[in-house]
Amino acid sequence: ATTPEPSAPSTPAAPPGATAGLPLMDEKDPTAGALGYINDGTKVDKVKYPKYADGQNCSNCALYQGAAGSAQGGCPLYPGKNVWAKAWCSAYAKKAA
Ligand code: SF4
Repeated sequence: ATTPEPSAPSTPAAPPGATAGLPLMDEKDPTAGALGYINDGTKVDKVKYPKYADGQNCSNCALYQGAAGSAQGGCPLYPGKNVWAKAWCSAYAKKAA
């Protein structure tokens, strides 16, 4: 039998419907503050969060619900909000490859 050609991947830019249109997390939100959420994951305070490693951000966190390549998406820790793909918080858990 011949193997059918894999269908072309859909565009990764479209945000997932489940999290589209949600307001973005505010760093000043009490929940964000408690978990050290920061919009720019390259600016994490490494003294305060020694477990942070370069390159970590929401887009490669196991909890991030945005589609691959999306700029923002949901996170179960912040219900009703979107987080930036480039953000980070202390609940970061590396996504399995
Ligand atoms: Fe980002 Fe992961 Fe923290 Fe959610 S748990 S805000 S996806 S780093």
